[in-house]
Amino acid sequence: MHCFCENKQTFDLKVEGDVSADPIWCNQCGCNFDIEEAPLSEDLKDDLMRWAMIYGRWIDWSKDTLLPNGIELENEHNKQGQQLTEKVKQELANKYRVRFSPSTSARMYSDLDF
Ligand SMILES: [Zn+2]
Repeated sequence: MHCFCENKQTFDLKVEGDVSADPIWCNQCGCNFDIEEAPLSEDLKDDLMRWAMIYGRWIDWSKDTLLPNGIELENEHNKQGQQLTEKVKQELANKYRVRFSPSTSARMYSDLDF
């Protein structure tokens, strides 16, 4: 996967949800990859994109506040992300190192309320 790292490519990836971003990142330089470039099955790409698109549904963006059950929604999203990361690891085994980076935005928002 080509990125901004010194040797122009990386074998060290992370799976992370973010608002309007693809869910595969370089774990070294933080470059966001186009998921179409990832050597993953189409099924898994679809699952990852569906997962990424519901990132942040625990936040009411129009009011910039956390939904009442926001922490649970984020926990659920992180659980799904962890499961998807395991599938990514299986498909990329022996070629890439992959880790999951869980979301903490609901916790950040809930801290702001107190
Ligand atoms: Zn990189």
